[in-house]
Amino acid sequence: MSDFIPLSVPNFGEREADAAREAVASGWVSTSGARVAEFETAIADYVGMPRAVATNAGSSALHLAAMAAGIGPGDEVIVPTLTFIAAVNPLTRYVGAEPVFIGCDDSLCIDPDAVEDFCANHCALRDGKLYNAKTGARVKALGVVHVFGNMADMPRLLDIARRYGLTLIEDATEALGTHYTAGPLAGKFAGTMGDIGCYSFNGNKIITTGAGGMLVSNHADWAAHAKHLSTQAKADVLQFLHDEVGYNYRMTNVQATLGLVQLDRLEGFIDHKKARYDQYVAGLDGKHGLRILPFRDESQGVRPNRWFYSLYLGGSGLRRDDVIARLQEQGIQTRPVWALIHEQADYPKNEAYGLDKALDYRRNIVNLPCSTDLTEEACQRVIDAVLAL
Ligand SMILES: *Cc1c(COP(=O)(O)O)cnc(C)c1O
Repeated sequence: MSDFIPLSVPNFGEREADAAREAVASGWVSTSGARVAEFETAIADYVGMPRAVATNAGSSALHLAAMAAGIGPGDEVIVPTLTFIAAVNPLTRYVGAEPVFIGCDDSLCIDPDAVEDFCANHCALRDGKLYNAKTGARVKALGVVHVFGNMADMPRLLDIARRYGLTLIEDATEALGTHYTAGPLAGKFAGTMGDIGCYSFNGNKIITTGAGGMLVSNHADWAAHAKHLSTQAKADVLQFLHDEVGYNYRMTNVQATLGLVQLDRLEGFIDHKKARYDQYVAGLDGKHGLRILPFRDESQGVRPNRWFYSLYLGGSGLRRDDVIARLQEQGIQTRPVWALIHEQADYPKNEAYGLDKALDYRRNIVNLPCSTDLTEEACQRVIDAVLAL
């Protein structure tokens, strides 16, 4: 049997090994050490922000974002239903708030039409604040996820957030490197356009530190508050005085050392993602009723990072779980898109709107292998296996 082709694995080589060895040899293996601040500066420079705050995960960055934004008990947050659970729990239940779920558009990101419809027709705006007509709760924020590295429709979502007094939180955990190349937001990176944004360096993301995250904000005091909360809210380090409940959400020096090398390789990874994406499109799009879902790309003024590729089975007669099982038998790892969050056990009573496309994409998407070391030959094996289904 030929080699196993994994879905998405870290791409570490000699440079990462050398960096880890250097960090270990230096003795700076925990949360002190110069590399964390260096990595924060490097990410901030890359995405064009004044500062970034390193964390031990994307999930903790999102939790800090919710706290920095002042989301709390009784508040509601508009979030996508087609996303990973960590885009929702940290912005809502971690801080005592409740989600209102919204479906997606054809980018798989939250549908601006459905968000607008919810705000205009299911809420009331009083003194610049939005209240849910059904629950009476304050709708405080809008969580936007740049799904699979696709850019959400930021001009419209920013406009909606402004008109309805919503804090906009960007989950750019899958979209490091995705940015506008033209239009009113030209040069702006995913994660940097709303009030506050988060990145992840988990093992499956486009660059990885094993585990880790980063937060940026257009409010300097929010970024400072997030840093404070991530370091146990120490007001006086020597005397162990803490001025609020904080967390240990810090990144280690070893992780940051890896991150610096990975960030240096990011543009190369993005080129690689595009080459394999183009190969999948050439091999599969339009064949046997199959589609490779598009990204918002240069034709729409966006440079996407193309983190995850979506095979859409809608017109093919193939069934998602059969495809996944039959490819697995041939040593090819794929996966379905996430189960919709409004259908998850913890959210039975929450409102959900505009779901048609999310339901369809949930049923019909299989994510194909997309590691940044996926060879042309391995990609062709996946294409041939799919065509033979
Ligand atoms: C990966 C991911 C997260 C969480 O990041 P971790 O670093 O794994 O905690 C949050 N939201 C989305 C959409 C993700 O894909």
